[in-house]
Amino acid sequence: MQKKELLYEGKAKKLFLTDDDNLIISEFKDDLTAFNGEKKSSESGKGALNNKISTELFKLLEANGIPTHFVEMLDDNHMLHKKVDVILIEVIVRNIATGSLSRNLGIEDGRVLPFTLVEFDYKNDELGDPKLNDQHALILELVEHQDELDKLRRMARQVNDILKPYFAQKGLNLVDFKLEFGKDSTGNIILVDEISPDNCRFWDIESGEKMDKDRFRQGLGGLTVAYKEVLNRILGK
Ligand code: 5GP
Repeated sequence: MQKKELLYEGKAKKLFLTDDDNLIISEFKDDLTAFNGEKKSSESGKGALNNKISTELFKLLEANGIPTHFVEMLDDNHMLHKKVDVILIEVIVRNIATGSLSRNLGIEDGRVLPFTLVEFDYKNDELGDPKLNDQHALILELVEHQDELDKLRRMARQVNDILKPYFAQKGLNLVDFKLEFGKDSTGNIILVDEISPDNCRFWDIESGEKMDKDRFRQGLGGLTVAYKEVLNRILGK
């Protein structure tokens, strides 16, 4: 499958049309951004690592009954996937308090939450991805019905129920992550975007070391080494 014209360029990926109206090719870029694009950099090899990690995780989730947009990995930096209408809600799942949860509500960084928290953010860079409640989402017509919000939450919890024990077996705490969903050509809600250390937090269970984009956000260095370690653990190396 060949790339045709550029459909959209985001902060971490370029999306290209293909000969098939129902299929898109994503190119995973090496670019890194944080704080709504205010901090920018690039790390050679980061895009390929995220493509490979996402490919493995989409395959795992599909095998466990979660419908995703994934079709196949084409090469190091390219993934073929279904075309969807993206739902402009970022679904955030948290097992351990850190990041904006700790900042906004004063919950101690590193506190294991008494239950898995699912939150919605409005996917809107101009507004800085603000928090949404269900009524906001319905007023903004980000979905058609309350049922769809319930489904997003249910699917996000199912993803967590699969990924959390999977990563624990590999010596990583799945602290929190962001998921995106879309509607396919038949109107089904499926998981889209990527699942990688760019949008998940992983802490090494033994050392507590951060193995994700916080290495860039917090200027810790060693980002690609950490992403490579996440991939190696997924591959059982
Ligand atoms: P926080 O709200 O603490 O900044 O982020 C919670 C989790 O969601 C983290 O794993 C973070 O990587 C992910 N996340 C939240 N918003 C975004 C976003 O706009 N882009 C990306 N790549 N990840 C996000």
